[in-house]
Amino acid sequence: MAKVVKKRDKDKALRTTSVVSMAGNAVLAAAKLWVGAVAGSMAVLADGVDSMADVIISLIMVVASVIVARPPSRRFPFGLDKVENVATLVLSLIIFYAGGRMLASSVGIIVSGQERALPGMVALWVTAGSIAGKLLLAWYQFRVGRRVESSLIVANARNMQGDVIISGGVLVGLFFTYVLRLPVLDAVVGCAVGLFIIKTAIEIFLDSTLELVDGVKDGEVYRKIFDAVARVPEAHHPHHVRARLIGGAWMIDLDIELDGGLSVDRAHEIAERVEENIRSEVERVYDIEVHIEPLGFRHKREPFGVTPAMLDRSGGEA
Ligand SMILES: [Zn+2]
Repeated sequence: MAKVVKKRDKDKALRTTSVVSMAGNAVLAAAKLWVGAVAGSMAVLADGVDSMADVIISLIMVVASVIVARPPSRRFPFGLDKVENVATLVLSLIIFYAGGRMLASSVGIIVSGQERALPGMVALWVTAGSIAGKLLLAWYQFRVGRRVESSLIVANARNMQGDVIISGGVLVGLFFTYVLRLPVLDAVVGCAVGLFIIKTAIEIFLDSTLELVDGVKDGEVYRKIFDAVARVPEAHHPHHVRARLIGGAWMIDLDIELDGGLSVDRAHEIAERVEENIRSEVERVYDIEVHIEPLGFRHKREPFGVTPAMLDRSGGEA
């Protein structure tokens, strides 16, 4: 029952943060795109493109939050939690595109070497205002994202934190552009912003695909599972252990070996105890499947899963 409440909280938080960040970013993006164009600053324009990407991201988040909220069905027996990961993946591609475009146009200006006017002073003011606005939005999303453990909200908060660094760089760049009266510096900052946007995109891409391909960041969860099995003396040789995340909760499969002479009742009891122990070790469990084999049973092939020996070899890193 606790999980149901938690999921509803998460869905609601996803919708609220989406609307807030969308409205905030739309205002900032419009201001920077307009000022960037009017004042003739590539750096502010790049910053505006980045915020525009954030508005599109927020739109995706709203659509994802509606889909994720649907209950499991015959067609989607695991529910639709992974739609969040797919949405994050799409998001990373959009950010990558925005960064690539900005990098290309800034490099174009530097390479062409054409004479350019100094950007207008208003560029400085809009950048300072944007830093304050984004800091507020990022802080808000980190707080909510951590509370409801949503990878999408935290990814978006991290992206906004990156925006603050971007706008900070733009501010410093503009300062030197004015002081040194060197308009080309503005395009150089535009390049740097483009590269930074691309870096953020790659990080978000790797995060979202890891969960989509059922990968885990470290071997910690496996160590916990083996510890849990070890506390049941009748359960031997845990193997074929597979743990993957579904909407932030662990789906765990494992094989254990029991004395072949045990009754089905007794074997089931032991399997239940293994499950209970795992639930007490691992936070947020989606489901656990325990497959029972007679002691000494050898598979013809061992094509998947983790064994304790594998953890020892890699020092806990999966
Ligand atoms: Zn087995």
